[in-house]
Amino acid sequence: MTGGRRRFITLLGGAAWAGPFAQASAAAAPRVPVLVYHRFAATVADSMTVRETTFEAHLRVLRELRCTVVPLTDVVAWRRGELAQLPPRAVALTADDAHRSQAEVMAPMLRDTGWPVTLFVYPSAVSNASYAMTWDQLAALQATGRYRIESHTYWHPHLPRERRARTAADFERFATSQLVQSRDRLRERLGARPTLLAWPFGMTDDGLMALAARLGYEASFALGNRDVSLHDELQALPRHLVTDAMGAGPLTRLLEQAFATDRDR
Ligand SMILES: [Zn+2]
Repeated sequence: MTGGRRRFITLLGGAAWAGPFAQASAAAAPRVPVLVYHRFAATVADSMTVRETTFEAHLRVLRELRCTVVPLTDVVAWRRGELAQLPPRAVALTADDAHRSQAEVMAPMLRDTGWPVTLFVYPSAVSNASYAMTWDQLAALQATGRYRIESHTYWHPHLPRERRARTAADFERFATSQLVQSRDRLRERLGARPTLLAWPFGMTDDGLMALAARLGYEASFALGNRDVSLHDELQALPRHLVTDAMGAGPLTRLLEQAFATDRDR
């Protein structure tokens, strides 16, 4: 779908904001930051770990900047033209890989906020790998109504590398099973209804994006350290990879830059 077509649909969706939207130029496109976390600990054990003190500082920044933490599905609906408007200062929170610290450290720290979080899970690790959550932990988070479980493929392969190592037909079968099995298992074990996908390592290509769309994923997420805009590829929406190096200062700058475009949204 082209930007022009999408705008047309969105304008039909809500007369209230037709004016500002019509005036928005491509250069001033509205943007929504989507943050992706992985692991939490008292100290930094690896590049994907965010210290508890750092995460505490992030929560403080989100409150002080009066952010509205929105469900990721709202960002997708907005990008798809199904939701005319997001609240001002919108940001979405995600966490990948179902690391145990998401249940044991992150969730307790978020409990009082009421903020929605999307967890991208690859089922082969759950109740299996020592670092991963159990199905019970995931179910408990889901039962709060604030955690939505989405697909991160079945066993987190590096898909472009697999494509190089396999014949075209074999790769098509492999990638399809990764995208379908993941969704099926999350449905069986949690009663979840995944509609979103996160590419392992943020890696994808045109063929994979077409496959995700064909298999019914409404949108897919990559990395890229950019905000989501209405112009981004639906099957490779960008997220900001959060590491411990992103302290309160860098996060504040990232959010303020995104919110500077709010008047156009
Ligand atoms: Zn991952």
